[in-house]
Amino acid sequence: MSDPTSFNAYYLRQIGVVTELPEATDIQTPDSNSASEAMSESINLEALAAQASDCTACTLSQERTHVVFGVGNPHADILFIGEAPGHDEDIQGEPFVGRAGKLLDKMLAALDLDRQSVYIMNVIKCRPPNNRDPNPDEVKACSQWFDRQWDVISPKVVCLLGRVAAQRVLQTNESLSALRGKWHEYRGVPVWVTYHPAYLLRSPSQKTRGWEDLRLLSRRYRPMLNLPPRRG
Ligand code: URA
Repeated sequence: MSDPTSFNAYYLRQIGVVTELPEATDIQTPDSNSASEAMSESINLEALAAQASDCTACTLSQERTHVVFGVGNPHADILFIGEAPGHDEDIQGEPFVGRAGKLLDKMLAALDLDRQSVYIMNVIKCRPPNNRDPNPDEVKACSQWFDRQWDVISPKVVCLLGRVAAQRVLQTNESLSALRGKWHEYRGVPVWVTYHPAYLLRSPSQKTRGWEDLRLLSRRYRPMLNLPPRRG
């Protein structure tokens, strides 16, 4: 019988999968970096965000309400990258605030993380019309922000949410299923690929696999951050 307070059970409840898995584990928050370090990185990211807010490098600038730059700890060890802002994000100016964002919050909570302890950003910063996939010109135009943002944050591990983020970062046309479940590298940083939360909302039967992805991600980053391993 699994312990209903265990990490696994908690995660699965959070994302709406009711099943029983063994193993109870304690959850500890990764050590945060020093306040002064975070503050100076924050200033750099703020300056970059301010520059990006005037960007007209692609036509998406004509329709946007906000440039959706990113949110979280500017010196986070873990960086989560999605695709592009949707309607709610465009209005509010923050990534992942709609339904998919609520699920992402639950996934983070299950890993004992939150928006303040990680950094969350998208491949492109402005909403594509009708939430279509970003086109290659838009991705290229936005790389000036993406690459500098990555450099300032200087993450120790990166989690790519969905096909668009995975293909952009890993510079490949391979499918998501080919990219999931193994470690990659970009700019010397270990990179993990999992489902986009919006996909998990559309395909709840895949939530258990999404959970497995996050469990494996956590297994890798915990030793990197000097956190004790979880069982399972
Ligand atoms: N989907 C994304 O990829 N990013 C967001 O910010 C919101 C939804």
